[in-house]
Amino acid sequence: MDVRRRHHSSAPAGEPLKKKNTPPPPPAPQLVSTVVPLYVTNGVFFGVFFSVAYFLLHRWREKIRNSTPLHVVTLSEMAAFLSLIASLIYLLGFFGIGLVQPIIAASSRPSSDDEAEEEEIIKDDARNPGPCPAGIIDCSAVAAISPAPPSQKPQLPLHVPPQIPPLSSDDEELVQQVVSGEVPSYSLESRLGDCRRAAVIRRAAVERVTGRSLEGLPVEGFDYDSILGQCCEMPIGFVQIPVGVAGPLLLDGVEHTVPMATTEGCLVASTNRGCKAISISGGASSVVLRDGMTRAPVVRFATAVRAAQLKSYLEDPINFDSLAVVFNKSSRFARLQKIKPALAGKNLYIRFSCSTGDAMGMNMVSKGVQNVLDFLQTDFSDMEVIGISGNYCSDKKAAGVNWIEGRGKSVVCEAIIKEEVVKKVLKTNVESLVELNMLKNLTGSAVAGALGGFNAHASNIVSAVYLATGQDPAQNVESSHCITMMEAINNGKDLHISVTMPSIEVGTVGGGTQLSSQSACLNLLGVKGACKESPGGNAKQLATIVAGAVLAGELSLMSAIAAGQLVKSHMKYNRSSRDVSKMVS
Ligand code: ADP
Repeated sequence: MDVRRRHHSSAPAGEPLKKKNTPPPPPAPQLVSTVVPLYVTNGVFFGVFFSVAYFLLHRWREKIRNSTPLHVVTLSEMAAFLSLIASLIYLLGFFGIGLVQPIIAASSRPSSDDEAEEEEIIKDDARNPGPCPAGIIDCSAVAAISPAPPSQKPQLPLHVPPQIPPLSSDDEELVQQVVSGEVPSYSLESRLGDCRRAAVIRRAAVERVTGRSLEGLPVEGFDYDSILGQCCEMPIGFVQIPVGVAGPLLLDGVEHTVPMATTEGCLVASTNRGCKAISISGGASSVVLRDGMTRAPVVRFATAVRAAQLKSYLEDPINFDSLAVVFNKSSRFARLQKIKPALAGKNLYIRFSCSTGDAMGMNMVSKGVQNVLDFLQTDFSDMEVIGISGNYCSDKKAAGVNWIEGRGKSVVCEAIIKEEVVKKVLKTNVESLVELNMLKNLTGSAVAGALGGFNAHASNIVSAVYLATGQDPAQNVESSHCITMMEAINNGKDLHISVTMPSIEVGTVGGGTQLSSQSACLNLLGVKGACKESPGGNAKQLATIVAGAVLAGELSLMSAIAAGQLVKSHMKYNRSSRDVSKMVS
């Protein structure tokens, strides 16, 4: 039987109460059948309450007038009295408990000075996202182990998945066939010609084969056709990541609202604070220093001498033009820029670099490389192609070659932050920031033997923007290479900050950029799709926005650390109110 009352409790719709770490609220009176609409039952009980109250008052007045003793009651008066009590219980149960519960909860909650102060700070920071650092401590660990008082913001589920309709008998049969291996799971899309149905059937089969529930992983509400043969094979649903916005970020005279997909509390708020400091100081400026995607095959010869001969051939400028013609046939947007060979014994690693328009360009450059390798076989027929990628590219791995030579877009972005902004918005001072940058981002990273990691948390911002805009998140490895520099200028009053990022690999066409959510985020930035005026313009602009957002993130986190706010803020912002023991299945 349904408990039919308004949702006064903190449990969100659809969330079973047993999953919360707060005790379940006392049950409301279960008086009403689920088949009667709520407004009818409420109306009936209101009607009963007021009419019997009127009747009893009327009878009371009569008795006083006639001098009848009050304890002499008729059958109708008794019935009226009982109806009054019953309707009162119903009405209190329906409307009263929601009012009483918060009062009970408030009175039973421990109210230490710390919590009162914390709530006040959170309220204050919510009005003005202030000293909220992100990215140094492991927030997920903090979130997982720290229970929060029930008074904190309730952790609403990201999405209440729509109920999956029961399978039809045809689909049920297909599930059985997939489970038994009679029908390969990967063939469902082509067999059915219906990607959504294929995902639902595969999901049911996975649940049965593994014996594990996929409840909570939504399957409805996604366009599975859009990923077919392009983004993801064998889908069974989709994972949701919240998207926040930081900004406006004033960059090269244009304001950008930057979408960030993340589950790290503080990150967006912190970047937002950095954007604010940059914008009110007059904005940031950026330059794209170079733009070239790379691919480096590995080829092998019988001798090192032969490998060295190919190296010389590739380095000779006379040969470049003919190789470029062959390479550029791969796409109207691919333009070969550079060939850089490196020899290891009788093996040769050839790093091709080319512009790729608005595409991130891995497919494009790979096609061009294949064309050149086929061409080279004519003069170097003893060349054995070991692999189209020999890791000298270097894709999705931390490598000095990307840090030094660059990959994708190499961008520098700078801003001058005024003294009063450092004080008022960032709550620190120029001298502390400069010293911290030198000891942490430069010296500390050198002590750690960092490769491209001379920054506070560039990868936090890069990953969040990449996820929101449909970039390849694995390229976060080299895209996050960044050196953050800080210097006191104008007689030590103002701060000059810059980020130099040699390997930002982004595109606005191809891959995940064409999916509807990611495309919407690109649209927000005004860089959706191919740039009509100048091919490559959108991708370059996106790279500068990534660098600008990193600049904002660096500024804010470094300020929080300089002001000693880091751990305190994380403990406030990343406390989870979930009871992890109940989340283990
Ligand atoms: P990636 O290499 O990033 O995976 P692809 O090469 O698969 O990207 O996708 C790029 C596709 O988009 C190519 O087919 C290319 O011809 C097309 N395209 C259309 N407009 C542009 C543009 N402005 N820049 C780059 N590619 C474009």
